[in-house]
Amino acid sequence: MSYVLKLMSSSRVFLLGVSIDAVTRTGALEMIRGFLREEKQRHIMTPNNEMLMETAHNADFRALLNETDLNIPDSTGLVWMARLTGQRLPERVTGVDTVTALCASLTKEAPVFLLGAQPGIAEAAASVLLKNNPRLKIVGCFAGSPREEDAPTILAMIRAAAPHLLLVAFGAPAQDLWIAKHLQEMPSVRVAVGVGGTFDFLAGKRQRAPIRMQRLGLEWLWRLMREPRRIGRIWRAVVIFPLLVLRFGKSAPRQ
Ligand code: UDP
Repeated sequence: MSYVLKLMSSSRVFLLGVSIDAVTRTGALEMIRGFLREEKQRHIMTPNNEMLMETAHNADFRALLNETDLNIPDSTGLVWMARLTGQRLPERVTGVDTVTALCASLTKEAPVFLLGAQPGIAEAAASVLLKNNPRLKIVGCFAGSPREEDAPTILAMIRAAAPHLLLVAFGAPAQDLWIAKHLQEMPSVRVAVGVGGTFDFLAGKRQRAPIRMQRLGLEWLWRLMREPRRIGRIWRAVVIFPLLVLRFGKSAPRQ
């Protein structure tokens, strides 16, 4: 969907010049299921604080976020920052919850391919998804990499498997740049989603924060305790991002 069409259609908020869809979990699910019934190719992103921080110095990534068909608000920070700027996101809609709920409702009519994460993780995530939904059809799993030299192998594999739903876990921004670059080369794919750490969570390689911490918006603290090396990213997401929103609000920061 073009940026102009997006402005005219369903409700959305703007933060740092990025449009985010004001969807509920159920609404997002319905939209994606609707997309899967159509032939048109769609790219869905799961923006969070870190991804919006990336757009502050990466205008191409911001442009990409404004070209996608659906941007679901993956972090509590986006819900809070929307409120701070007089806008409203009904709730946080995480990539992992969306993938879990979506796969729980799919049948063999909508085959799925899992691309990304460390070797073995996509397969482990796939078996969890299949255990919860025996009607689901997973036509391929591959760790791969976002490197251009690996693209021909990955594309050949996906073309042969012919999935309708492609989940890509290369981390942002790599996964979404990869989808934007290659979606047209995978004609069977109707919906491609950049899913970040979703396979790690499903496979049990990474634990989600306790629900109370999630509700209090303290997932970053959980992440900091588990992965202290991410302190720089967490600082930018939790401290610098709100300051930038306070300063620039709905508009993109000047570069
Ligand atoms: N990842 C990957 N290839 C890469 C970089 C990352 O497959 O070159 C995977 C990584 O193993 C993880 C996922 O991408 O499964 C998300 O990475 P990260 O933790 O950086 O992203 P976040 O959870 O913050 O979205």
